[in-house]
Amino acid sequence: MHVREGREGALAATRTETRSVRPHFMLAPSLTCPASCAYCFGPNDGPTMSAETMQASLDFIDRITSATGQNSVKVTFHGGEPLAAGLSIWRQSLDGLRARFGEGGCEVGLQSNLWLLTNEFCELFRDHSVDIGTSLDGPREINDRLRGEGCFDRTMLGIRTAEAHGVSVGCIATFTPFNAPRWRQVLDFFLWIRAGPETAPTGTNTPTAE
Ligand code: SF4
Repeated sequence: MHVREGREGALAATRTETRSVRPHFMLAPSLTCPASCAYCFGPNDGPTMSAETMQASLDFIDRITSATGQNSVKVTFHGGEPLAAGLSIWRQSLDGLRARFGEGGCEVGLQSNLWLLTNEFCELFRDHSVDIGTSLDGPREINDRLRGEGCFDRTMLGIRTAEAHGVSVGCIATFTPFNAPRWRQVLDFFLWIRAGPETAPTGTNTPTAE
């Protein structure tokens, strides 16, 4: 009896302490990635998540937050390439999070190279206010040096596709000994893409590296 009371008291104290703290969960729905960047330290060759595993992940988040009394969470989807998991897994996850936490109760982030972004994905992400981040290391000749030929154009197409649906995309850059000395050029590039498609309709007419 004492043990139970002590345990329930500890749980109540935990709930009080954690209720005002918003937990941040990371989900990796796919460990595969269609790119093969030279410096990739994450998995880029592996399985994608099944519907059963996604449901188990959602149940796990529900179990923890129910126990701690937290009704507002952040969930970030990483990979591999998270979009490789497919549209139905994404619908399942976003609908499940909304059902649990309500509209606005779950802030969702996605880190993706956007190669697999489709109009359907864009509509889903807009409806769920998904905060999208992608990765570019600078203009084409810098980016493709370590990420591979054609990577720049595919990611830029994804950025412009998202923007066409009213979904904005943030970028992170990896600096290496190759592009670190050219940081000003990388910075100019990011200022350029922020200017939007009006200044470069194809999305590929970037400032040159020289
Ligand atoms: S896009 Fe990301 S996950 Fe894919 S190979 Fe490049 S660094 Fe790795």
